[in-house]
Amino acid sequence: MPRDDILSKFDLGVRHPALDSLRRAYATLHLSQRAPLEERSQKQLQLASVLVRHAKDNVPLYRDLYRDVEEIRSWEDFRAVPILTRDLASQAPLEDRTAEKSAPDSAPVEMVETSGTTGKKVTVLRSTRTEVWRSACKLLEYDWMGLDPRRSCASIRFDVGPNVRGYDSRLNCVVTNSWEEPLLGRLLPFGRGYVFRVGSKETVVADTLREVRPEYISATPTMLESLSSALDGPMFEIAMTIGETLYEPVRERLASHFGCRIFDTYGTREIGRIAVECPDTRNYHVHDYNVIVEILDDHGKPGNPGETGHVVLTSLHNLATPMIRYKLGDLATLGGRCPCGRTMTTIERLEGREVSRVVLRDGRKRLARHVSKALQDVEGFGPFLLRQKDYNVFELVVEEGSRGTQKDFEEARRGLSDLVEEPVTLTVTRVASLPPLPSGKRTRFVIDFTPEA
Ligand SMILES: [Zn+2]
Repeated sequence: MPRDDILSKFDLGVRHPALDSLRRAYATLHLSQRAPLEERSQKQLQLASVLVRHAKDNVPLYRDLYRDVEEIRSWEDFRAVPILTRDLASQAPLEDRTAEKSAPDSAPVEMVETSGTTGKKVTVLRSTRTEVWRSACKLLEYDWMGLDPRRSCASIRFDVGPNVRGYDSRLNCVVTNSWEEPLLGRLLPFGRGYVFRVGSKETVVADTLREVRPEYISATPTMLESLSSALDGPMFEIAMTIGETLYEPVRERLASHFGCRIFDTYGTREIGRIAVECPDTRNYHVHDYNVIVEILDDHGKPGNPGETGHVVLTSLHNLATPMIRYKLGDLATLGGRCPCGRTMTTIERLEGREVSRVVLRDGRKRLARHVSKALQDVEGFGPFLLRQKDYNVFELVVEEGSRGTQKDFEEARRGLSDLVEEPVTLTVTRVASLPPLPSGKRTRFVIDFTPEA
């Protein structure tokens, strides 16, 4: 059957072993979208089994952690493998988490570190194999978006500045001939890229964008929102949102302001691509060939569709620094079967960091999502920090320029009261500016007291 997808349309035809692996990985992803569930599940289990054995035999941390782990033959066996907590992943020295030996395609090629939003940085080693699969997942995402790689793309990232090669001091960004990374850049003809540093002034970014007019942009929702105050649409064809929960009102506002389509993706530096928005519905589909996503309740049991739980990830191709049943601290709601017909695992909603939960006096925790969402929904509210200082005491820190009113604050207070099931006080503090976190996130929730055990 002739294929009509991003690779068959744009492949530059360059021969190279890594590119051939990438072509094969992408073909697997593309052809398996609607394959029977059982096929995918078998493949995942087979990869997980090899991974667990490799980790137990070759990685000091797992040798210890997996003393009681036997051969993985069923999902039940897999679910009995001990969880790798974020604490453990960030505290164990990298050499203890690194394989003493692995196949050539799993030799380390690059070290990456999480942004450390939660204060716990996790470092992993990437290999040719992880990069091949990460790139293949990206290609599938681009295929779903209907993206033409030859067009140009702007992005706002943490790791660029005037000292980076290609920095254009007039445009205040790094200008590249290919907006993708080298591996994908050799496979397809990617167009020009404009990379701005997180924290660049909105007006400065806006001036450049108005001049260079990229068709695509990739940034966090918060960053796009602040950009929308300095830049009028229609502007882009597609905005790819990354790095934080995309709330529906924010999506609608961005889509209508910039006159563009919005595609939300879910990934982390330590795992790679995890899920992407379905092209036909608002569900997210998991890159099942790259990662096993489990959504577990507080007791570690798998939840049912519609239930919110802890995201636990297994990176299926990282044999250099295996990440197996890694509980990274995100919450998500498991989806049912997606009406689009794709059989990939479905996530109904991404709820963001686990810390976005308030604590009740009896120890229960509840998502503060509705409150955060309501505040983000207020036009011109700007970045904020919501802090729980005691069971019934909250502080909301906003910037001096915030257009939030007494009515908005009172609504937030009522929302918090409902959540913790008792009357609460909410004080509002105004500061000159709330600096963006390294990840670019500008809204956050923190618990600032020690709840009784
Ligand atoms: Zn779908």
